[in-house]
Amino acid sequence: MQFTRLRISGFKSFVDATELQIEPGMTGIVGPNGCGKSNLVEALRWVMGETSAKKMRGADMDDVIFGGTATRPARNICEVTLSLDNAGRTAPAQFNDWPELEVTRKLERASGSDYRINGKGVRARDVHILFADNASGANSPALVSQGRVGALINARPTDRRQLLEDAAGISGLHARKHEAELR
Ligand code: ATP
Ligand code: MG
Repeated sequence: MQFTRLRISGFKSFVDATELQIEPGMTGIVGPNGCGKSNLVEALRWVMGETSAKKMRGADMDDVIFGGTATRPARNICEVTLSLDNAGRTAPAQFNDWPELEVTRKLERASGSDYRINGKGVRARDVHILFADNASGANSPALVSQGRVGALINARPTDRRQLLEDAAGISGLHARKHEAELR
């Protein structure tokens, strides 16, 4: 699976609908301090299922919704959609009928998030399973935030093992095993 497009609306400083094509290879985001580079990466993390408001640099998850400026009123809804190319059919079995997957997360003030995959309502857990095998996902070791390198060096062995399992893509197996046991 490959990320192909990120669409953002009402999320943090991205109040207007914004679309970003993600081409194969390396993508650089450049701009002055405070222009929204980190917010973009957070939108990516958020649509993949981040549950921690703190990791979104907020006190409450509603803080990711555009909070208004001197000239523009706050929004009550935000939405982020991540498109994935699944032509190689590497998505987990339940998602593998589609050559393209669109994952959407929407949040309305005081009423929590809902998720859709290709327009169909799904659980947060389904989104987690979709990403769990791909070294992607909200807790992906590929998303390295400030302080993370130091944390890895100082981590307890069990925590470091978790990080290495995430990086090796084994965590998805654990998640699906747990899901199978629940059925
Ligand atoms: P730096 O180069 O300093 O790391 P950056 O490009 O990463 O900057 P961000 O941290 O992504 O910048 O963006 C910060 C801006 O986003 C601030 O101006 C902040 O006010 C704005 N912002 C964050 N959350 C919201 C929100 N909920 N509503 C409106 N604006 C927000
Ligand atoms: Mg930044």
